[in-house]
Amino acid sequence: MIRFILLLSLLALPLSVVAQPPQSVAWNIVEGLTTEVGPRLAGTEAESMARIWAVGKLKALGFSNVRSEAFVMPVWVRGDERASLTYDHGPQNLIITALGNSGATPTNGLNGEVIGFSSLEEMIAAPNDEIRGKIVYIGNAMHATQDGSSYGYFGNARRKGPNIAAKKGAVAVVIRSIGTDHHRMPHTGVTNWDADVKPIPSAALSSPDADQIERNLARQHKCFEEFQQKAACSLVSLKLLLTPKFIGERQSGNVIAEVPGTDPAAGVVVIGGHLDSWDLGTGAIDDGAGVAITTAAAKAILDSGKKPRRTVRVIWWGAEEVGGFGGAAYFKAHGTEAHAFASESDFGADRIWRVDFGLPDSAKALVARLTSALAALGIGPGSDPASGGTDVGELVKSGVPVIDLQQDGTRYFDLHHTADDTLDKIDRVQLEQNVAAWAIVLDAVANAPENLLFRVK
Ligand SMILES: [Zn+2]
Repeated sequence: MIRFILLLSLLALPLSVVAQPPQSVAWNIVEGLTTEVGPRLAGTEAESMARIWAVGKLKALGFSNVRSEAFVMPVWVRGDERASLTYDHGPQNLIITALGNSGATPTNGLNGEVIGFSSLEEMIAAPNDEIRGKIVYIGNAMHATQDGSSYGYFGNARRKGPNIAAKKGAVAVVIRSIGTDHHRMPHTGVTNWDADVKPIPSAALSSPDADQIERNLARQHKCFEEFQQKAACSLVSLKLLLTPKFIGERQSGNVIAEVPGTDPAAGVVVIGGHLDSWDLGTGAIDDGAGVAITTAAAKAILDSGKKPRRTVRVIWWGAEEVGGFGGAAYFKAHGTEAHAFASESDFGADRIWRVDFGLPDSAKALVARLTSALAALGIGPGSDPASGGTDVGELVKSGVPVIDLQQDGTRYFDLHHTADDTLDKIDRVQLEQNVAAWAIVLDAVANAPENLLFRVK
C-alpha cells in the first residue's frame, strides 16, 4: 500500500522532475546560480545578490574561512538599444547590443552615414577626413577554432576599435559581433577608452545584420564606381539609439573559501572562476561553469577526508568581465602571500582536450605524473606556455606556477556574451569530465612533495 501511494505521488510530479539524473556538485552550483540569481553584471544589485548566494552555498558545502572581500569599481549599465537601416521606403530594424562602457546617443537617437571597414587595421589606416562625422562599421568576421585563439586578434575590433574611431572623429561605432554563430544574437563585451577620450555610442550587430550592412555597402561601392559621384547613389545610413550610462563607483567583491592545508609554509593553491557575468544571458557558460567546475574539484578534496598539504583557496572572482577588477583587488590584498599555484576555469563547460604547463623546473616529476593521469581522460599535453586566465594574471605574471586545462572552444563563441548563454547549453557529461580533470590537477598540486615556491620566471 505504501509502495502504491509512493508510486501515485511520483506519478503526480511533472515528468521533468522525475527524469532528472542525480545532481552533481558542479551541476547543482551552476543550476542554482543561473536559476536563483541569473544575470549578475559587476557592481550591480544582482552581483551583490550573487555574492550572498555564493557565501551561503560555499558554507553549506562545508568549506572553511568563507568570506566576501569587497572592493569598489566604476559601473556602467545598459539602457535602451535600437538600430535601423534607413531606406527611402522606410526603416529596417537591426539587432544590436551596446558594448560595455559605450557612450549614449541623444535621447531621440542619432542618424549617420555609415563608413565600412573590413578590419580594425583598415580603419586605422583610413584618413581621419573620411571618418569624421560618420558611423564607423567594422566587419572583422571571426571563425570558430578549437582553442579559441582567434578571439585575441578579432576581439580587438571591440576592445580598441571604438576608442580609435572616436579619436578619428567618428560619431558612433557598430561592429560585427565578436562571435561565431549565425543567429540574430549580438555579442556584448567591454570596450576601453583612453582617459582623454569621450566615449561615443558603440554597439555590436548580430552576424546576419552585419551581413545586411555589408551587402548594402557593397552596392553603394559599386554604384560609386559606375557613376563616379556620390549624389547618384543612395548612401548606407543608420539610425541608432543607445542610452547606457555610468552610475559611478559601486561595490563588487571576491568570494573566497578554503580547504585548510597541513603545511602553511608550502604556499596556497588558488583556483576558481568568475562570479560576475554579462547582463544579457544568465552567465551559465561564462562563467557559472567555471566556478562550478573548480568548486566541485575542491569539494572532492574536502570529501576525501584527508587534509591536503597546501591550503586550497577557491575564489569566485568579482567584476572580471568589465576589466578584471577582482583579480587586481586580490593581488593588492594577497599578492605578497606565498602562492604555490594559481589557475582559473573561464572557457565554458565543454571537454578539456589539452593541458599546458607553467611550472618551475623543480616540478618536472609533477608534470610527468599529471601528463599520465590526465591522459586517462583523453587530455594530451600542449606546448603553449600556460597563462592562467584574467583573474590570476597578476599572480602568474609574478611567477606563480600555473596549469591551463584547455577546453574545447569550438562552440564557445557562438554563445559568449549573448542572451543565449543559458543553462541548457551545458552538456552535463562534458561538465563532469572538466571536474574530473580539475580534481586530478588540484589533488596533485595541493599534495605535491616538490617545492612549488620557486618562481617560474
Ligand atoms: Zn569569462
